Amino acid sequence: MNMKVSSNNTNNESCPTMREYSSAQELVNNIPYMAMMVLGTAVLAVGFRNSTWGLIAAAAYLAYGAAGAFWIMIFVCPYCRYWNSKSCPCGYGRIAAKFREKSPAECFDEKFKKHIPVIVPLWFIPLLAGLPVVIYSFSWMLLVLLVIFALDAFVILPLISTKHGCKECPQKDMCPWIKLTGKSAGLTV
Ligand code: SF4
Repeated sequence: MNMKVSSNNTNNESCPTMREYSSAQELVNNIPYMAMMVLGTAVLAVGFRNSTWGLIAAAAYLAYGAAGAFWIMIFVCPYCRYWNSKSCPCGYGRIAAKFREKSPAECFDEKFKKHIPVIVPLWFIPLLAGLPVVIYSFSWMLLVLLVIFALDAFVILPLISTKHGCKECPQKDMCPWIKLTGKSAGLTV
């Protein structure tokens, strides 16, 4: 995993030194979100005993997770200073450039607050679907899946986001995400 510091491939002239992420690093940074999708899908499939409706719910959750990622790329990333640069830790910024032109970075906070609720249910659907099944019809496999899902979604994913990309982000002072998660990750903003 290579990571270097760049002064010429960003969309923020006021921030002279920003990291650039290699494709491998971008992939690694996407693992917690991808793991959340896979675990959430497994929770729904196992929770509904692999029934037809369970498999439909699991497939719908997976599709929702993929659509949510594109939603962020289309409606949030164009307002980010990392748009179309290798300084975006997860690579969304460069993919976003294929869909949308650069938009005013001053609107980032507003757009983030407006669009992030679209994907928030991804963090809760597997828990809301799986916990009642564990309580009323106990299953070790489902319990283990739920615990790993919760660890990934509520501990690992926010920790990696704030420790890596957000730490150097020029928008961190106005970013609602880092205000929510920065303290628990040991960041001062
Ligand atoms: S840092 Fe976040 S908002 Fe900015 S381009 Fe990357 S994914 Fe989009």
